[in-house]
Amino acid sequence: MTEELDHGQTPAPTHGSRIDAYVDRYAARATGMVASEIRALFAVASRPEVVSLAGGMPYVTALPLDMVGELVSELVTRRGPVALQYGSGQGDPHLREQICDVMRLEGIQAAADDVVVTVGSQQALDLITRIFIDPGDVVLAEGPSYVGALGTFSAYQAKVVHIAMDDQGIVPESLAQTIYALETAGAPIKFLYTIPNFQNPAGVTLNIARRQQVLDICQRAGVLIIEDNPYGLLGFDGEPMRALRADNSDGVVYLGSFSKTLAPGFRVGWALAPHAIRDKLVLAMESAVLSHSSFTQLAVGQYLATQPWREQIKTFRELYRERRDALLDALESLMPPEVTWTRPGGGFFVWATLPEGLDSKAILPRAVAERVAFVPGTGFFSDGSGARHMRLSYCYPEPDRIREGVRRLAGVIEQEMQLRDTFGTGSVREHNGVDTPGPDLA
Ligand code: PMP
Repeated sequence: MTEELDHGQTPAPTHGSRIDAYVDRYAARATGMVASEIRALFAVASRPEVVSLAGGMPYVTALPLDMVGELVSELVTRRGPVALQYGSGQGDPHLREQICDVMRLEGIQAAADDVVVTVGSQQALDLITRIFIDPGDVVLAEGPSYVGALGTFSAYQAKVVHIAMDDQGIVPESLAQTIYALETAGAPIKFLYTIPNFQNPAGVTLNIARRQQVLDICQRAGVLIIEDNPYGLLGFDGEPMRALRADNSDGVVYLGSFSKTLAPGFRVGWALAPHAIRDKLVLAMESAVLSHSSFTQLAVGQYLATQPWREQIKTFRELYRERRDALLDALESLMPPEVTWTRPGGGFFVWATLPEGLDSKAILPRAVAERVAFVPGTGFFSDGSGARHMRLSYCYPEPDRIREGVRRLAGVIEQEMQLRDTFGTGSVREHNGVDTPGPDLA
C-alpha cells in the first residue's frame, strides 16, 4: 500500500490496544481477582496423556445422556414460551419446592419461599459476599478451604482467617479461640464459611458432636454460618449427615447445588436463607443477572419430576466410591511411607501431606513432565501456606488411570526425597531445575 493511498486510512493505535491499558483505572477490588492455581492447571491437565488428579469435574458421562437430550428437547417443544422467557429473580417456584424435597434428605424443613435459585452455588457465594463484606471485614474459613470461595472473598477484599481442621472437621476450640481473639481486637467477623461434608479440598466431614458445638459457638458470638454443601448426598456409607441448617434456621445460610448430583452444565444451585437475607439475595440476584435461566431451571425441574434422581445419585456414589478405593489402595501400596493422606467417606477429594522439606508447588512441573497433575496445597489457604500439601481428586479418571497416576506421582515424590537428602531441604527446587511453574502452570 502506498503512502498516498494509506493517508488517513490506517487508524492510529488506540489506548485500548495496549496490553496494560486502563490497568491504573481498575477499582481496588480488582487487585484481589487473580487466577486460581486450578484454573492455570486446566490447560495442562486436560492433555490426554496426563492423568489429572487435579480438577474436580463430576463424571457426567455416567448420566443417561439420551434421556437428558429427550427431556431438553421436549421442554422446548412443549413449554418453549415459558422456558425461553425471562423468569423471576428468586427462581422458578416449582423448582424451589423440589429443592425443599432434596434438602429434606438432610433433615432440613424449609419453605420454598426462603429458597433463591442461583447460577451454581458459586453465584450464591458471590451474592452472599457482596451483601455482607466491606473491604477488610473478616471471614472465617476452614484451613484449607475451597479455592473458589477464597477467590470470591478476595475479590470483595475480605480478610480470611483460617480455623484449624483435623480429620473430624473444624476444631471447635480453634473456632472459639479465634472468634474471641478477633472480638478482643475489634475486628468485625461477618460470617463463618464452612463445608461440613466431604470437604473441598480436605475430604473430611464434621462429626456429629462438633456440629452442635459449632452451632453453639457461632450462636453465642452472633456469627452467621454459611454452610456450603455440594457433596452432602455423595456419602459412601450410611445416610446423609444432618445439615447444620436443620438445627438452626436463623443463624445459617445453606448453599446447595445440582452440579454434583446431576450436572454442573445446568449451573443450577441455590441458597436457603433467613427472610431478611433472602430478600437481599433476590435483589442482588436481579442486579447481577435479572433472573437465572428459565430453561435450565425447568430442565432440572423436569428431571427431578420424571426421572429416578435418587437412583442416579446412588449410581454416582458407587462410581465415586470405586474411584476413591482405587486412589486409597494405590496410595497405600505405592507412596513412600512418609506421605500421609485423608480417607474421605464421600465426595471427590483426598488431601495428601508430603514429607518435611518437600514443596508441592515446586514439584508440580516435574509431575506434569511425568504426566500426572494435582493441585498444590497453597491455593487453598489465603495466606500462601499449605506448601507441603496437595489435593488429589478421584472423581474423573477411571480407576486404572488413577492407579497409573499415583504410580507416576509416587516416583516423582521419591526422586524429590532423594534430592532433598542429597542436597538438603533448600536445594530441592534448584536441582529440579524449576523455581517457579512454567507459563501454563503459573
Ligand atoms: N462449593 C464447593 C465446596 C465446591 O467444591 C464447588 C465446586 N467445585 C462449588 C461450591 C461451586 O459449585 P457450583 O457453582 O457448580 O454449584
